[in-house]
Amino acid sequence: MTELNQLRTRIEEINFAILELLTERGEVAKKIGQEKIKAGTDIYDPQREKEMLNQLIEQNKGPYDDNVIKQLFKEIFKASTELQQAQNEKHLLVSRKMKPEDTIVSFPNGAAVGGQDKIFVFGPCSVESYEQVDAVARDLAAKGQKFIRGGAFKPRTSPYDFQGLGEEGLKILKEMNKKYGLNIVSEIVNPAHFEMADQYVDVFQIGARNMQNFELLKEAGKSNKPILLKRGLAATIEEFIYAAEYIHSNGNSQIIMCERGIRTYEKATRNTLDISAVPILKQGTHLPVLVDVTHSTGRKDIMLPVAKAALAVGADGVMAEVHPDPAVALSDAGQQMDLQEFDSFFAEIDKARQLYL
Ligand code: PEP
Ligand code: MN
Repeated sequence: MTELNQLRTRIEEINFAILELLTERGEVAKKIGQEKIKAGTDIYDPQREKEMLNQLIEQNKGPYDDNVIKQLFKEIFKASTELQQAQNEKHLLVSRKMKPEDTIVSFPNGAAVGGQDKIFVFGPCSVESYEQVDAVARDLAAKGQKFIRGGAFKPRTSPYDFQGLGEEGLKILKEMNKKYGLNIVSEIVNPAHFEMADQYVDVFQIGARNMQNFELLKEAGKSNKPILLKRGLAATIEEFIYAAEYIHSNGNSQIIMCERGIRTYEKATRNTLDISAVPILKQGTHLPVLVDVTHSTGRKDIMLPVAKAALAVGADGVMAEVHPDPAVALSDAGQQMDLQEFDSFFAEIDKARQLYL
């Protein structure tokens, strides 16, 4: 063996010895972490780190300079603190850490959200009349759709705007379920309404304006129907996830997340669709994620490419508004597709959907 090879062999032995010591150090650090948790003291203790660094510098005989030793040990301390923090971390029920496999929200009519297929939730902004909803429902059934949306309780910016038909609206929606077998998706704005609405609705929607209405979220958690939770107008992804956790921690794990755009300085669209929220939610939680292309863009001319983008980044489906005569719609008149526009939108997005099967 040459001198160089001998030295290299020795270096490898030292590497393994260091690794062994690091492993032992990590195990001891974890035990210290448990003691700290029991005692309720902070995991990170800068004073203690400083003392240990000073001891090491005192003992340092070279050849490494004091600063190099400091740096190396600081990295080791950091890794140990992270180990201690990781064992203290409480995982959310909605997190993938807690449940690695996807949640699939299934319905008696065969629809499944969050599984292999991509799904669509189309329908008018508001329920206005039997005829209006029926025109859309008939079209959806003919297209093989499994859901229809429509608001009966409308959270409007102005108190003078149409507030929805209330229970009458839900009754109209229920007729569509009976006639066409469509699952009914409709918004609830009052915690006291879940019980009444339960006889009409298959998916309770919680709208953007109520994403942090914690009493509503708690009641949604007590329901045994799926909840479609929309992201708040100015909610961070973390806040959105915590809102879902409110529902889950109150007993309901059937949650569908819906990114619907957030408020930014940009005026070219109604809201700014946070497309990156989709893969972030898919990675961080086990819940299905939809993208609402109507309320995010507010623009019919870009809904199709945006909907395609949503599917491309991993959304489990798309929501969009369709009205037989948008010009006279009582809400969101400017952005609902008419049936003809919907025909071409649907043909294209359904083609895109098949790319992912
Ligand atoms: C809706 O979907 O009917 C609605 C009001 O949307 P958002 O809560 O996202 O504004
Ligand atoms: Mn709307």
